[in-house]
Amino acid sequence: MNVADSRRVASALEKLGYQATKKPQEADVIVLNTCVVRQSAEDKAIGRLSSLRPLKDKNPDLVINLMGCLIGVRGNQKILDRFPWVDVVSAPSNPTPLLQHLSKKTGQQTAQDRQSDLNAMLDGDLTLPIDEQGKLVSAFIPIVYGCSHACTYCIIPSKRGIEHSRDYAEILAEANTLVNQGVKELTLLGQIVDRYGRDLPERPTLAMLLHDLHKIEGLKRIRFLTSHPNWMTDELLDAVADLPKVCPHIEVPIQAGDDDILKAMRRGYTAAEYRDLVAKIRTRIPGVSIATDIIVGFPGETDSQFQQTYDLLADLRMDVAHLARYSPRTGTYSARKLEDNVPKEEKMRRFRLLETLQEEISAEINARLLGKSANVLFEEKSRGRWRGRTPTNKLVFVESDENLLGQERDVTITWTGPWSMIASITGTNA
Ligand code: SAH
Repeated sequence: MNVADSRRVASALEKLGYQATKKPQEADVIVLNTCVVRQSAEDKAIGRLSSLRPLKDKNPDLVINLMGCLIGVRGNQKILDRFPWVDVVSAPSNPTPLLQHLSKKTGQQTAQDRQSDLNAMLDGDLTLPIDEQGKLVSAFIPIVYGCSHACTYCIIPSKRGIEHSRDYAEILAEANTLVNQGVKELTLLGQIVDRYGRDLPERPTLAMLLHDLHKIEGLKRIRFLTSHPNWMTDELLDAVADLPKVCPHIEVPIQAGDDDILKAMRRGYTAAEYRDLVAKIRTRIPGVSIATDIIVGFPGETDSQFQQTYDLLADLRMDVAHLARYSPRTGTYSARKLEDNVPKEEKMRRFRLLETLQEEISAEINARLLGKSANVLFEEKSRGRWRGRTPTNKLVFVESDENLLGQERDVTITWTGPWSMIASITGTNA
């Protein structure tokens, strides 16, 4: 979501006449887009922010924009007091404060002209930043902003605001624009992406959107994330199964395998219901890969409750598990009402146990692909190797002198590990 937000800012800045630079010391404007989902992310954001101070000291004209969840939709005045070298703050997904600040600085226009220029700039389709046009193979499109679910551990709803779906036609227009600029794969984003459209008067669905995006010529692949188990309709699973461009890959977090913990997290389903859903997804979408998220060390999580999570992960054999150690986030229900009483070392121990288990599972799932063929969309060349992904979202590296950028090619898998695979191109370019 932040990558998508940053791209929108970059594109708007280019319309104001700015150009990207790789060197912060050359920049006239620096946008620091921040995440605070866990304490570690927040610490990193603060660290980067502190590292910008010498640049501002050296160049007082430098404009520093602090953006994203460190600010949040309700703003964060305290940050400005603590980091006086920040010039302008903006909420997630909102480039307007920065653009207003910059156009004020140039100073010739009336406030009214400025506002209408800004609106024109922000209403238009997203054009990619110049250095990504014709090069970016895979792009994100946010389709649901904010979140209204309020899982007890999660800070996102209070930072990104209430859930609202983007206009259907606007999403299609943006998709078309991106594909015209060379993008081959689109990933639709939302905190609960499968709730898309429920707040819109016409009640469009994610499945309908997938059908319409599927018609875009030149678009090769479509993905979406993250799904919440309770909103994965049969209509959606059918769309994934029926539409060849929609990749058979589902990101659907469970968070915990114990029903009491799930209740305390306010996730709204039981472990048994999640197991049933996974079985249904696998039946309906043959060859599907499924990724999950898990938090260990939620307040009060006992050893046997953790064991439930472990057993569930061992049984379900997911393709990927994104693991996190619980960290209390300011203002959330769990931070206010529940004691963070699983010791740090114990969280680490549980984390490592799941990590080891998942490594074995992923290694075993990938090893089955050895010697088999797969289809890969290539996204970039780095350190001499082309990097791409299978429709099931598995990372594949290929050594080739050909220009594979943006190409979808059949490969033969020659090596597999838990996190990636190596392959060679099968036959010639069709
Ligand atoms: N809305 C999406 C993504 C949320 S953030 C969803 O619900 O799946 C991504 C992941 O961060 C979550 O799935 C969760 O596993 C993790 N996470 C969120 N809050 C956390 C916290 N306070 N401590 C540790 N992990 C957390």
